[in-house]
Amino acid sequence: MNNPLLSDAPLPAFGAIDASHVEPALRALLDANRAEVAALLESDADGWDRLVVPIERMHHRLARAWSPVGHLNGVMNSDALRAAYNACLPLLTAYHTELGQNERLCAAYQRVADREGASLGPEQRKVVENALRDFRLAGVSLPPERKQRFRALMERLASAQAKFDENVLDATHAWSRLVADEAELAGLPAHAVQRARDAAAAAGQDGWLLALDAPTYQAVLTHALSEPLRREFYEAWVTRASERGPHAGQWDNGPLMAEILALRHEAANLAGFANFAEYSLATKMARDPAEVLDFLQRLARLSRPAAEREFAELERFAARALAAWDVAFYSERLRHERLQISAEALRPYFPLPRVLAGLFTVVHRLYGVRIVAKPAVEVYHPDVRFFEVLDRDGAPRGGFFLDLHARPKKRDGAWMDECVGRIRLGGTCSQPVAYLVCNFSPPVGERPSQLTHHEVLTLFHEFGHGLHHLLTRVDTPSVAGINGVPWDAVELPSQFMENFAWRDEVLPLISAHVETHEPLPHAMLERLQASRSFQAGMQTVRQLEFALFDFRLHAEFRPDRPARIAETLAEVRDAVAVVRAPEFNRFPHSFQHVFSGGYAAGYYSYKWAEVLSADAFGAFEEHGVFDPATAGRFLGSILERGGSRDAMEAFVEFRGRRPEIEPLLRQMGLAA
Ligand SMILES: [Zn+2]
Repeated sequence: MNNPLLSDAPLPAFGAIDASHVEPALRALLDANRAEVAALLESDADGWDRLVVPIERMHHRLARAWSPVGHLNGVMNSDALRAAYNACLPLLTAYHTELGQNERLCAAYQRVADREGASLGPEQRKVVENALRDFRLAGVSLPPERKQRFRALMERLASAQAKFDENVLDATHAWSRLVADEAELAGLPAHAVQRARDAAAAAGQDGWLLALDAPTYQAVLTHALSEPLRREFYEAWVTRASERGPHAGQWDNGPLMAEILALRHEAANLAGFANFAEYSLATKMARDPAEVLDFLQRLARLSRPAAEREFAELERFAARALAAWDVAFYSERLRHERLQISAEALRPYFPLPRVLAGLFTVVHRLYGVRIVAKPAVEVYHPDVRFFEVLDRDGAPRGGFFLDLHARPKKRDGAWMDECVGRIRLGGTCSQPVAYLVCNFSPPVGERPSQLTHHEVLTLFHEFGHGLHHLLTRVDTPSVAGINGVPWDAVELPSQFMENFAWRDEVLPLISAHVETHEPLPHAMLERLQASRSFQAGMQTVRQLEFALFDFRLHAEFRPDRPARIAETLAEVRDAVAVVRAPEFNRFPHSFQHVFSGGYAAGYYSYKWAEVLSADAFGAFEEHGVFDPATAGRFLGSILERGGSRDAMEAFVEFRGRRPEIEPLLRQMGLAA
């Protein structure tokens, strides 16, 4: 079959991929994999080499074919691709559950553990341990009819989650605001006004067309002098895919959310867990729900007094009670007054090409690798570029597609995803390849895109994930790079990288004024650094609100009553929030991390990993941010090892002790 998704070429042939290829390719691969598993079991294949290696190669083949499909669905969404993608989700889910529930396969892995356990290397032992754990999580030992029920739950969950995403995307794109009088845009940065002008022209309309994408939303909430405009945007944003707001009821995720929670709970019960929070923790660094709740509540106790002080100060500054849509606006003004710094004034100092070049320099100085553009590599959109990562000796180590600008039909937010995983097993070899995706404002005319410092942090963050994937030395795909890394440790390398973008040693490397080419002046640099702890309490309680809401929602779910979504959110807000959300706020309805992404009963992972990353960065503060020995240990103990060893052991090997919370509190200016 001449299907580009089944090609062995090192990189996807994006131009040749058509929605019509998706389902046939997936079906062919699933059939081949099923036949291979059956043949392995039939021939009583035993042991690491004869059983585990072929299975790992099989997983690799599938992941590699599917990766461009999932990626394009996220960044180049079209009706045809969406339909093909959705048609495949149940097939894929059924396949994974079926493998996870295969008793003979599980028994064969158990024999590998029993007979070869002692002679296997640590990486191999981890692969087998993880596989045995995942069999248990898929309900391998259940009686047939309950297994069947578990499979049905997983399939329905996959399509319900995909529908949740679609609703958010559709609701986001359905709303825009045409402005006829430029005075209404007062306060907005020039680039945002220009973009709105271009958007109106492209749509054949007069005036300015404001879309509901993240950069526009942020710009309006932070800068628009018009309170009615801010309120209108806020309402459109926080009511997306709900029964409230401008498109009330049209893409309402409400019923789906209740269903998703019920499905997760029932699946967790079947697998032998009291609730989905416990099920979620079976693969994480945190040991049990009490440890997570204690951790979040301790942080809340430490940060809420600061958050209350900060909010009171903000209301004093504004000289009135503030609504949710006023907070970013007045915060920006207070920040400006207090620190003589504004996000927009910094933008010209961070033109994207300079930031990227500086980031590559930082990575080179830390880990010795060089990053070079490879313009000849085929990409899927003119905005996208491909880069290769070269070792000290010039040998290629991997590569990545960089897709940084917001555009229609592209999912919100920023993320790193695997395009190809690293493998060196049984004659199959490939280098890791990543997708790095952000949603920065596109360049306007000849001018390069200019980033806020916040966007610079986002880029460093995603690059940290990218390095975890690209620098791995692990040969077995299921524990290479970010694979097999517990979800609450996976943000360690990414949040760790953000620290560099705040440093004296790094800011001159990543900044150069777009016209004068001057690096960020020292006085501005100091004020920027001082701004790091600005409203740190408010930012922390906001993250804790999300984390506690998510975790309690899953931990406290009971099948004998309706999901308490609004009630749990209200209780959590009473306990930790300082900004009052209006009654119409329906933020859970677009909370993709938790309802459709991988952060279900896992949103706490961000804060958990922030403790790890702040503490890890502490070692660099002690020895110098480019200290080769410290960087070498971070590379060797964390980045290169992927999921091939226990996350706590890896941390302790690097830091010489278990993680401590104090470096994070110091970093945020919250230390007593
Ligand atoms: Zn991340």
